[in-house]
Amino acid sequence: MFNKKTIHDIAVKDKRVLVRVDFNVPIKDGKVADDTRIQAALPTIKYLVGEGASLILCSHLGRPKDGPDPAFSLKPVADYLGDLVDSKVSFVEDCIGPKAKEAVDILKPKEILVLENTRFHSGEKKNDPEMAKELASYADVFVNDAFGSAHRAHASTVGVAEYIPAVAGLLLEKEIEYLDQAIEKPKKPFVAILGGAKVSDKINVIKNLLTKADTVLIGGGMANTFFKAQGYPVADSLVEDEVLEIAKELVEAGGLKLRLPVDVVIADGFSDDASKKVMWVGPVPEGWRILDIGPETIENFCKVISSAGTVVWNGPMGVFEMPNFAVGTFAIAKAVADSGAISIIGGGDSASAINKSGLADKISHISTGGGASLEMLEGIQLPGLVALQDK
Ligand code: AMP
Repeated sequence: MFNKKTIHDIAVKDKRVLVRVDFNVPIKDGKVADDTRIQAALPTIKYLVGEGASLILCSHLGRPKDGPDPAFSLKPVADYLGDLVDSKVSFVEDCIGPKAKEAVDILKPKEILVLENTRFHSGEKKNDPEMAKELASYADVFVNDAFGSAHRAHASTVGVAEYIPAVAGLLLEKEIEYLDQAIEKPKKPFVAILGGAKVSDKINVIKNLLTKADTVLIGGGMANTFFKAQGYPVADSLVEDEVLEIAKELVEAGGLKLRLPVDVVIADGFSDDASKKVMWVGPVPEGWRILDIGPETIENFCKVISSAGTVVWNGPMGVFEMPNFAVGTFAIAKAVADSGAISIIGGGDSASAINKSGLADKISHISTGGGASLEMLEGIQLPGLVALQDK
């Protein structure tokens, strides 16, 4: 049960509402290159405008280093949003300070103002109370709809909630409900699939999932560390020597629940036109590296997925950016889509594989937050959620 107040629990007519959205989208040549997160914010934006509120939207975009940097401006996002909604959308080139205040003061009901990137101020990541107070001073109510940033305790995600009533937006509510249900009350069998480059990022996720899931399937570069921990040299494969011991412990703790690949695709270079061959898991020949899961593993994993009641997937099975090593990832994408299970995809790479396969509409929920969904899978309470008012 979602136990936080949402925008449905408050009256917003003629109120100014500060909404923390996740507009951290890829920008290419000054234009929005992928609008998934903007689309995902629309239900909350449209609902609030429909109720007669004026909206002040804030977000970070990318990782600007030292203050304002046009490469990380939210202006292209504001322009893009203007084409998606009927309301007037304006943009102001700062998120605090006199310019922002002036723009807020002239905002009328049902209008939308997009503030510039919150990370142009160092106070954002430090959760500086002065910055939070200034942001909060613009509005009567704070709405957090930025699931992708809910694992960060920043001024615009957590700090502002100290000063004005704070509730959840519809995207945040939906994301938390899907993940919470999957983790705490999954339809069984519950199968978790983890891939991607590094096991070090996902150690606590694996630990927690071993207590919740029926099967944890491991693929991608992170499997290499497990192979090495089991005594197989992995030659030029990506490997993390510093977590070999932990990998060994996880294999022991996991028992039959933890399933590693039985065969892999190896290549004699890190390129799509390298020579490749399939081998059973064992010592990798010198000069070769593991870049994908093999056909037997695909078959085994797909069988497990096809009988799942709930599937959670985060991370590719191989170097899927190269078509020759994308077979495992796309096979898993298809198996998840065809499984009929409640399916939740987290992380940009797995979502991109699903989208490229044209299978997105067969997935129950594609999360907009890779990091935040991983922290939920770890069992961590998200600070951006904790800060909101209880129901
Ligand atoms: P992550 O950000 O940890 O989810 O990792 C995603 C990245 O892992 C993708 O860019 C993949 O190319 C990469 N990856 C997956 N499998 C392998 C592998 N066997 N060797 C090297 N990189 C891999």
